[in-house]
Amino acid sequence: MKPKNREPKNFSRRDFLKTSAAGVGAVALTSLATSPSSAQAQTIKWDRDADVLVVGSGATGLPAAIAAIESGASVLVIEANWDVGGHAILSGGNVALGGGTSKQKQHDVVDSPDLLFSDLTDWSVVESNGFPDYRYNDKEIIRAFADNSAPTFEWLIAHGVVFVDKAPDNQGAGATGNSAPRENHAAAMAWPQMQTGRPVAAERQATTSSGIGLIRPLEASARKMGAQILLQHRMAGLIREHPTSGRIIGITATSQGKTVNIRAKKGVILATGGSTGNVNFRRMFDPRLTEEYCGVAGEPYTVQDASGELAAIAIGASLWGLYNQTGEFGASITKPGRIGCQYGYVNLPWQPTSPIFKLARDIGLRVADWQEVILVNQAGVRFYDETVGQFTSNNYNAIKNYTPRSYLNAANIKYNPRNFLNAAMAGTGEAVNGGGPIWAIFDSDAVKRENWTVAPPHVDIAEGFFAAAETIAELTGNIKNKYQKKPMPPDVWKKP
Ligand SMILES: Cc1cc2nc3c(=O)[nH]c(=O)nc-3n(C[C@H](O)[C@H](O)[C@H](O)COP(=O)(O)OP(=O)(O)OC[C@H]3O[C@@H](n4cnc5c(N)ncnc54)[C@H](O)[C@@H]3O)c2cc1C
Repeated sequence: MKPKNREPKNFSRRDFLKTSAAGVGAVALTSLATSPSSAQAQTIKWDRDADVLVVGSGATGLPAAIAAIESGASVLVIEANWDVGGHAILSGGNVALGGGTSKQKQHDVVDSPDLLFSDLTDWSVVESNGFPDYRYNDKEIIRAFADNSAPTFEWLIAHGVVFVDKAPDNQGAGATGNSAPRENHAAAMAWPQMQTGRPVAAERQATTSSGIGLIRPLEASARKMGAQILLQHRMAGLIREHPTSGRIIGITATSQGKTVNIRAKKGVILATGGSTGNVNFRRMFDPRLTEEYCGVAGEPYTVQDASGELAAIAIGASLWGLYNQTGEFGASITKPGRIGCQYGYVNLPWQPTSPIFKLARDIGLRVADWQEVILVNQAGVRFYDETVGQFTSNNYNAIKNYTPRSYLNAANIKYNPRNFLNAAMAGTGEAVNGGGPIWAIFDSDAVKRENWTVAPPHVDIAEGFFAAAETIAELTGNIKNKYQKKPMPPDVWKKP
C-alpha cells in the first residue's frame, strides 16, 4: 500500500517530527526503522502492513497520517470506533492557534511566536481561583507549539478546513494567553453533526463553529492522499522485535471479536486521545474521581480508555507533565450543565436523530439559571451556593493591565475561590471516595420558568437519572440510581 501520486523519500525521525508538528495535537512516535530480520517478526502472521501505523483518527491521528504520507510513507490508520473523529468531531471546533496567523494579520492582531511562548510560560499568571495555568508548561513543547502554531493554521486551511470568516477571538477555550486573541473557528459547513445526525441550517453553515468542520475535511484529505482507515479496530497492544525487548514492529488489534496483527515497517503513532474515561487510571491522579463521574465529555460516542498510555507504559514509557489531570480549570472541569441524564455535557445535547442517541438515551435538561434548582449530594445535603457561579480560566485580556512575568499581575486578577467541584466531591463525611451523584431538586414552577419537558427523551427515568414525586417527602424514596451508594435519608429535607 503506497500513498497515491507520491515519491517515497528517505525520512528520518527528526524530519518526521518536524513535519508532523504541522499537525494538531501530541504525537507519540514509538519507533522508526525496524529490523526486518528480527526473530519475533519472523514468527508473527501479519494480517496487514504499512510504513506508518496511526492508532486513533482524531485531532492528532488524522494530521499525523497526512504528515506521514507527505513525508513519503504509506499509512494505515486504525480506529476503535465505528466512525472517525474521536472527541475532536464532537468538539466546538474552536482551534487555538496564533503567533501571527494569516487571520490575525488580516485583522491587525499583533502576535508572534515569541509572544505566544511568553504568554504560555508566564509563571505570574494565575486563574481566578489561584491556580497557575502556565507555570508547569513544558518549555520545549511550548516553544515548538509557538513556532509551529501559525504554520499549523495555514496547514489546516491547505488541507481543506474552512474557518469562520471573522477575527480571532477568545471564545471556546481557556489558557490561550493574555496578549492576543487566538481562537479560530472551524466552520460546520454541510457535514451532518454527530449530535443531531443533521447539518446545521444552511444559513449558519459558514458561521457555526464545530468539530465536524475540522475532522471531515482532514479525513477527506487523508483518504484522498492514500491513507487507509480501518474502523472498528481497537489496538490491544504493541508488538516488539522480541517479546519484552527491541523496537516496535507492529500492533495487535481486535476487530469484531477477531485478533489482527498489523506490521508497521517504520513506526507506530499512538493518537488514542486520553485517559479520563478509565476510572482506575484517572484515580492515579485524583482518588476522588470514582465511577459515578460517568458522563465524561464526549461519552458515549468516544471513551478515553487510556489504551494508548497503557500500551506505552507496558514497553517502558513514563508519564510526565500531567498537571492537566489535577489542575482545576474553572468551568472546564465542571462542564456538565445538563441534568436528568447520564451524559450531561452542556454542549452535547444528544438528539433522537443522532446516530449516538441509542447509547446516550436522553437529551437532558439545560439549566439556564442555577438558582432554579437546589443542588444536594447523595446524602441530600446542600454543598454549594447556587448564586455564585464558577471561577473562569485565563484567556485573552483576562488580566487587565497585564505585565508579562510580573508579580504585580496578581493585583489585577479577580480572585474567586468558589469551587463547585471540590464541594461536590467532598462527599458525605464517610470513609468513601467520591461524592456520589449530585441531585438537582426543583419544583414544577421551575419547570415552567426553564421551559423544560420532564419526560423522555428529555430525561432518563429508566436508568434513574431523573425521579419525580408529588411531594418532597416522597421524592427521596424515588431516587434510585446505580451510583447512589446509600438510599437518600427519607427525612433529610424535613430537618430545619
Ligand atoms: C464535547 C467536546 C467539545 C470540545 N471542544 C473543543 C474545542 O472547541 N476546542 C478545542 O481545542 N478542544 C475541544 N475539545 C477537546 C478536543 O476535542 C480534544 O482535545 C482533541 O480531540 C484531542 O485529540 P486526540 O487526537 O488526542 O483525541 P481524539 O480526538 O479523542 O481522538 C482519539 C481517537 O483514538 C481512538 N482510539 C482510542 N483508543 C483506541 C485504540 N485502542 N485503538 C484504536 N483507536 C483508539 C478514539 O476512538 C478516537 O477516535 C472538546 C472535547 C469534547 C469532548
